[in-house]
Amino acid sequence: MFCCHSLKNLIDNAGQRGLAVLVCPTEAGFRFALQMRAVTAADETTMTKNRQPSASLPEKMTLSESMRIRHCPSCGKRLDELAASDPKFFAKLASEHRPFQNQWGV
Ligand SMILES: [Zn+2]
Repeated sequence: MFCCHSLKNLIDNAGQRGLAVLVCPTEAGFRFALQMRAVTAADETTMTKNRQPSASLPEKMTLSESMRIRHCPSCGKRLDELAASDPKFFAKLASEHRPFQNQWGV
């Protein structure tokens, strides 16, 4: 179901701090994003709701950022081919990743 351990680790890290790979369903099939998070998705929600000035943090800060990817960042496997090999599994992942999605231009 995964091409390598690195992709499994990245997908398992969805919504957590650090790098992750997200799965997103579209009418054209599954799309994938490499996502960076400075804080967990839950903490990002809390921080954006309770915006107060802080002496120790910059006024503007990127908490998460995503970009579309078409290949596994570790081994280079085409991700559309990987998703086509087990669409039910990737649909489940996409459902789990829905809360962590941000605007990454699918
Ligand atoms: Zn891989």
